[in-house]
Amino acid sequence: MTLAADSYRHKGLRQAMVDDLRRKGMTDERVLKAMLEVPRHLFLDLAFDARAYDDDALPIGCDQTISHPSTVAMQSHLLNLEPGLKVLEIGTGSGYQTAVLCALKARVFSVERQQPLFVRTKKLLSELRYTAKCFLGDGYQGLTEVDYSPYDRVLITCGAPFVPPALMASLRTGGIMVIPLGEKQQEMLRITKHGPTEAEWEVERFGNFKFVPMLGGRQFKS
Ligand code: SAH
Repeated sequence: MTLAADSYRHKGLRQAMVDDLRRKGMTDERVLKAMLEVPRHLFLDLAFDARAYDDDALPIGCDQTISHPSTVAMQSHLLNLEPGLKVLEIGTGSGYQTAVLCALKARVFSVERQQPLFVRTKKLLSELRYTAKCFLGDGYQGLTEVDYSPYDRVLITCGAPFVPPALMASLRTGGIMVIPLGEKQQEMLRITKHGPTEAEWEVERFGNFKFVPMLGGRQFKS
């Protein structure tokens, strides 16, 4: 596959997207810089090229959507990343959020349950030279194939009805989980794990969002 170019037009649209994020209150310069670097249009079908830098969720196949840039900015910011931190991401989807985490110099392990998305995105990320490790699996269980735990950060990019215990268990003490919690609508939570029991989890709330649902099991067909 020959990748479409990152043209001056795309770079201009990307700058406008970052300016828009600033206007909406995002002040995290590291996140804004990463989002200025990552070519979001390459994570979308060519049909959406002109809209790739709108603050919008767009279809990526398998009934899933790429998250809004403002949501990606918010989740990336809440993770409070430093270079080299180990991040477990649940819901690779288009790979855009994954690439932003890589641009923030995190070591990313990403799990997707839909096989067609997993196959396409793993290839795309590698072609774009992002070094995230991609896995097909049920994110409720975390990463079962290989054990890279404990993680410094866990990021969930689909609406979770509850905090998955296996994911909390794989987070190191002092680590942070960012999770959109809820069924129809989600509240964005940042949970800092000060210890293994729920009483030792510090929960901060960051408003309501709408995500595609976190579903159980692997899905081998689109
Ligand atoms: N960050 C991605 C979000 C994609 S939407 C992007 O911006 O493109 C959320 C993704 O979570 C979908 O691809 C969906 O298939 C995946 N997902 C839902 N439940 C899951 C689960 N239990 N395990 C792994 N991935 C899951």
